[in-house]
Amino acid sequence: MNLEKSRELYARASRSQAGGVSSNVRLAEIPSPLFFTHGSGSHLTDVDGNIYIDYVLGQGPDIFGHAPAWLNEAAADAMQLGVTFSGQHELEIAVAEKLQRMIPNADLVRFASSGTEVVQAALRLARAYTGRNRFIKFEGHYHGWADSVSYSTTLPDATASGAREAPVAVPMSAGIPASAASDVITLPWNDIESVRRALDAHAHDVAAILTEPVMCNTNCIPPEEGYLRGLRDICDEYGIVLIFDEVITGFRIAPGGAQEFYGVTADLSTYAKAIAGGFPLAMFAGKGEIMSLLADGSVLHGGTLNGNLLGLGAANACLDRISGEDAPLRRMQDTGKALMEGLREVFRKHEIPALAQGAGSVFALTFTDAERITDWREHAERADTGMYAAFAAGMLERGVRLTSRGVWFVSTEHSDEDIARTIDAADDVIGSL
Ligand code: PLP
Repeated sequence: MNLEKSRELYARASRSQAGGVSSNVRLAEIPSPLFFTHGSGSHLTDVDGNIYIDYVLGQGPDIFGHAPAWLNEAAADAMQLGVTFSGQHELEIAVAEKLQRMIPNADLVRFASSGTEVVQAALRLARAYTGRNRFIKFEGHYHGWADSVSYSTTLPDATASGAREAPVAVPMSAGIPASAASDVITLPWNDIESVRRALDAHAHDVAAILTEPVMCNTNCIPPEEGYLRGLRDICDEYGIVLIFDEVITGFRIAPGGAQEFYGVTADLSTYAKAIAGGFPLAMFAGKGEIMSLLADGSVLHGGTLNGNLLGLGAANACLDRISGEDAPLRRMQDTGKALMEGLREVFRKHEIPALAQGAGSVFALTFTDAERITDWREHAERADTGMYAAFAAGMLERGVRLTSRGVWFVSTEHSDEDIARTIDAADDVIGSL
């Protein structure tokens, strides 16, 4: 396939932008960072004229596909009024009230711009509310790129993380202050006993348990039966704030996110990505008692662009669709499940051991002989990431764009034809590997 123009532009971009990209995540694009001219629905077109069925979807936000006319219109209409006032507009109230109706723990909400910052706001609130300092974070979970949470997210192997019973928090970047590591306790996920053991030693100083409710950032590992409920009970027992990071699951796996899907309510929860269908908006929600620390001014949360009308106009329209009678998220789940099943059939046919797991509208594909993978250590030991990279490269050549880390995002715009073409491409790639 011809990627000549993308490669030329990438070389040029690297002379003006660090690494030629705006996020380190994009450095990992296989075979090299691509440049696109436009997207439409489930498709993206690159500068060399290649058209892809897109399962990256901006790393998740584009639940209604690329450039939906109704969404662009809603954002543009709002934008005509002005964008950033450092003052209030009625649209903020309208969107906040919709969120209160949709999200189980949303006594109160606050708007922001990115997932990274709303996680930081939630941690600050949890510390202020409890008067404690440390927090539990799970291996393999990603919560943005800030210092406090950039530990044990992705690693080539698990050895750097020490023994399962005594995990070491491994920084994911140079430049993180060494002091940050003493505030975080990293633990394997899906293991309630390890949380209990950690709290035996540290309960008096743990402000929060921060978790992705589905481990979307590593292999889309679902919570074991009763695990989220177990975390809820432990938090109640020890007076710890339970934070669900719903930046991926929110407005994707159900209108009320994982809290609705699994029937477990968090004290605080964080959202970005799908809330505004790809327009810049983030939000955190929580119980009145905790969120009111923002209202009395004792906890600082700021942001020049917070509550801007571009993001709110888009979110207003998205939330109407998501909670409307058409139930687009259910359709998206069904599409994703059909795709997962089709992929499984291809791997069975070729006798290639692989695992497709996840909720449907977001799932992961892993080459492994494990029947199930339940945490990040198992993933690090048993997933053949080299084979996945070769598979993703083969899919790109056949016009299917995948994330490099194995997570697939599905939109409302992926059609039966897209799914059939994707399954055919997978069949072809596996046959050739
Ligand atoms: N939390 C989770 C679960 C995420 O997946 C991400 C991003 O992928 C973030 C937080 C950070 O969000 P953002 O990239 O908007 O800062």
